[in-house]
Amino acid sequence: QPGSTLSLRLIPYSDDLWLLIARDVSRLLQLEQMRRDFVANVSHELRTPLTVVHGYLDMLDPQEHPDWAPMLAEMQRQSQRMTQLVEDLLMLSRLESQDSLATEETVSMAPMLATLRREAQALSQGRHEISIEDTAGVDLWGSNKELHSAFSNLVGNAVRYTPAGGSIRVRLRSEQRGGVALEVIDSGYGIPAAHLPRVTERFYRVSTSRSRESGGTGLGLSIVKHVLNLHQARLEITSEVGRGSTFSCHFGAERVRQRDHGFADTLE
Ligand code: ADP
Repeated sequence: QPGSTLSLRLIPYSDDLWLLIARDVSRLLQLEQMRRDFVANVSHELRTPLTVVHGYLDMLDPQEHPDWAPMLAEMQRQSQRMTQLVEDLLMLSRLESQDSLATEETVSMAPMLATLRREAQALSQGRHEISIEDTAGVDLWGSNKELHSAFSNLVGNAVRYTPAGGSIRVRLRSEQRGGVALEVIDSGYGIPAAHLPRVTERFYRVSTSRSRESGGTGLGLSIVKHVLNLHQARLEITSEVGRGSTFSCHFGAERVRQRDHGFADTLE
């Protein structure tokens, strides 16, 4: 068919013969696009009603209705969770529809690491030991907002999947051939090896009950993977059950910028 998209695969058949398999994937691509549009539209449409519900809930004073206080608190918690889910779905749809970054800029890593430290502290509320290490002393080239969202998801997971008394380390370090890695290392529950290949899929969860209780949306690692892909960066996960996990974001030399010390230091 004119205009259709073909997927071609060349497979060795015998010593001097190759097999060429051509498949028309136009319909598959079209369905995938319909799925993306549907999710984006539904998420967008849910935003306004949710804002209204959230707004009115905020106006109800639990002190005026002491009997309702536990119900109001739960309604607020659930509407916040729904809002986060809708925001994450919208972000994921936006990331999926992009082939490349719309704008690129220098991402100053000193303020980025300082923000991640504050976020980890706020989530942990003193229950974990938190440390930030920067042995690379460089900046990145890409999207500040998106990289922040990816790193912030990793730090949030590290806190949520590490029991009290554990440690969370965020480390920026140089790698071979001029690359750099941002690593988030926790001493938490860990992920069984069989689950590792699937944890970046949408809504994939190792333990549904623990993940729900922890307050996540199930989209965090999908967002991380998409953001890193747009930066031609790679996510590597190593984990041991009961000992903890390391999430490493590997950036190539083309994403590394020498740090403008004056600017970065004043922001921190
Ligand atoms: P969620 O909102 O459920 O945390 P994510 O996409 O961020 O969704 O993560 C997917 C699943 O991977 C989680 O439900 C959890 O089971 C597992 N996971 C993610 N980060 C960690 C971590 N640091 N330690 C242990 N398990 C993790």
